[in-house]
Amino acid sequence: MTTNDNKIFLSESQLPRSWYNIVAELPFDVPKPLHPIEDRGVEVDDFDWLWPLECLRIELHEGKYGTDPWIEIPPFIADVYRRYRPSPLVRARALEKYLGTPAEIYYKREDLNPAGSHKFNTALVQAYYAAQEEHSRIHTMATDTGAGQWGAALAMACETVGLNCCVFMIRKSFEEKPYRRYLMRMAGAEVYPSPSELTDTGRSVLKDDPDNSGSLGIGMSEAIEFVKEDPGRRLALGCMSYYAVLHQSVIGLETRQQLEQIDRTPSLMIGCVGGGSNFTGFVAPFVRDRIGGKPIEFRAIEPDSIPTLSQGEYRYDWADFSELTPRILMYTLGHRFVPPPVHSGGLRYHGKTPVLSALVKNNVVNTRTYSQQEVFDAGRVFLKTEGVLAAPESAHAVLGAIDAAREASNTEKTPVIVFCLSGHGYLDLKGYSDVLDLDTSN
Ligand SMILES: *Cc1c(COP(=O)(O)O)cnc(C)c1O
Repeated sequence: MTTNDNKIFLSESQLPRSWYNIVAELPFDVPKPLHPIEDRGVEVDDFDWLWPLECLRIELHEGKYGTDPWIEIPPFIADVYRRYRPSPLVRARALEKYLGTPAEIYYKREDLNPAGSHKFNTALVQAYYAAQEEHSRIHTMATDTGAGQWGAALAMACETVGLNCCVFMIRKSFEEKPYRRYLMRMAGAEVYPSPSELTDTGRSVLKDDPDNSGSLGIGMSEAIEFVKEDPGRRLALGCMSYYAVLHQSVIGLETRQQLEQIDRTPSLMIGCVGGGSNFTGFVAPFVRDRIGGKPIEFRAIEPDSIPTLSQGEYRYDWADFSELTPRILMYTLGHRFVPPPVHSGGLRYHGKTPVLSALVKNNVVNTRTYSQQEVFDAGRVFLKTEGVLAAPESAHAVLGAIDAAREASNTEKTPVIVFCLSGHGYLDLKGYSDVLDLDTSN
């Protein structure tokens, strides 16, 4: 790397060998999940029918997951990761120039993954654990999905390890955004609009409200019911779980090596938050540096219409609509919250993963909210300058970086802003068109 380069690469042999298990090192406790109804903690036996065992152990911080900061990446996973990782870190020189900022801006590309977002990083591992389980007769993974990024990632992950995949897709997205539905089916998954007629939850919601457009909470309840019907099925979760955060730490670990290569320490790290997995995985290794004394700032961006971290309550709540999942301590808008139909489907969660919630509660991570209009305008600026079409979710992080760059002043040390580009927006152009009025305006 010379100082004029735009892209900072790692070789395949520099792919991290371990994930970073942040809960083992935080100076404060991340409380474990509670039983859905009983007044006690969750045991592995309570949910061994629902989750792959290894995911459950991670979620309950069992054994090494409670004590070891480094968790080895299985060789099979590393081999598949190497198809698309390490991903480049890019200096946004054209954006810097456009903004006339003294800051340096970098973005980590998670849009080059199979299915187009960071979600494959954990979908692959969850499917692998299920397929590997001892004496396992697991044949199917089920899940819910909003705009379809998670469903598409899981569909491809299941294909990679030889499992079937069943996806409950929020009805509104199912109908209005067919492309990821096509992608999932092309990868071999079954896809149903949620609420569906397949489950009690779906039927009862539809009975009260035949036009219900669905929510991630309802979709999750449907997926859980579907799993309960057959011992060969398990649930996969994209965002609110801790295991997703653990797997996504590969993003932060690569970023850290890349910044080291060019002798930079970030001043500010930015990401968008839905459940919190890309942001928390991206910042986790740097939180370690901050606790070690480095003055790094972290900023999590959410839509102003779903202000969980900035306005939600910090309390125990369920991840799903029907109260079937463990209760977790987190910032939440309530598990019955029906999010407004914003185009950033991946950010429409009522709660944020407990580890991120704890980081916010302890003032390690700050938050900001933006409106859909200003976010999509930022997406347009990013396309025009860097030539990259950000996912609507990721455009929140783009705007976060633009905002921070505008605030940056010429200090002795150049501010270094680094953000996570969690996915691409090529299947979200209809949303961009609706907000930016691309159908009619020339
Ligand atoms: C799902 C998704 C998100 C939000 O999920 P997190 O768990 O918060 O990472 C963000 N960006 C993209 C592109 C997504 O697909």
